[in-house]
Amino acid sequence: MTAPDPETKMQFLFALRSRGVTDSQVLEAMEQIDRGPFVRGIFAERAYEDMPLPIACGQTISQPSVVGLMTQAAQISPRDTVLEVGTGSGYQAAILSKLARRVYTIDRHARLVREARALFDALHLPNITSLVGDGSHGLPDQAPFDRIIVTAAAEDPPGPLLAQLKPGGIMIVPVGQSDTVQTLIRVRKSETGLEYDELRPVRFVPLLEGLGKDT
Ligand code: SAM
Repeated sequence: MTAPDPETKMQFLFALRSRGVTDSQVLEAMEQIDRGPFVRGIFAERAYEDMPLPIACGQTISQPSVVGLMTQAAQISPRDTVLEVGTGSGYQAAILSKLARRVYTIDRHARLVREARALFDALHLPNITSLVGDGSHGLPDQAPFDRIIVTAAAEDPPGPLLAQLKPGGIMIVPVGQSDTVQTLIRVRKSETGLEYDELRPVRFVPLLEGLGKDT
């Protein structure tokens, strides 16, 4: 895997900072995990631009600054167990693995999970467990989670995911219709209830039910 040249990397990190990714640990994780290996084919040469790009199965790898802002908003600590719903390319899970104790990531497309898992192995990221399934039901066997990051848009924060969040936990989820601009929401769970913060407008592919047909 070839690393980007230093100038490209510097511009990439500059774009992240200028779009609000200021947490030094998140920036360090994003400096350690190159985006290049997660983008394939004709889009590979655009891997260090701050834009979403197509991946297999009709899905997308998210815009790097949005990945950074979501990760930053989740306030991850090194003891945390994190669930990511929507593995996609595996890029965000790889970044989360540098910040958390353990990362579970799930996608409804077996092909995406297979390709992401090969990258996690190649990059020596042993604290990621990747699974195929409908992540809107969460992972009851591994719950509860300190943090949950959903990288596909739901009409409402999914109930099973809220139930699988620890008290003191944080969930980041884009909420809204799939064909419109959605709102990125941070949910904080306390002993007494849930508190919702609207973070910013975003555009994500929809959180769909069931398993995907691989292409
Ligand atoms: N986090 C990814 C990355 O770093 O490349 C980007 C994720 S992409 C924007 C959204 C992903 O959510 C797609 O790969 C899609 O297959 C997945 N997805 C949609 N609905 C899902 C569901 N119910 N369970 C699991 N994954 C789902």
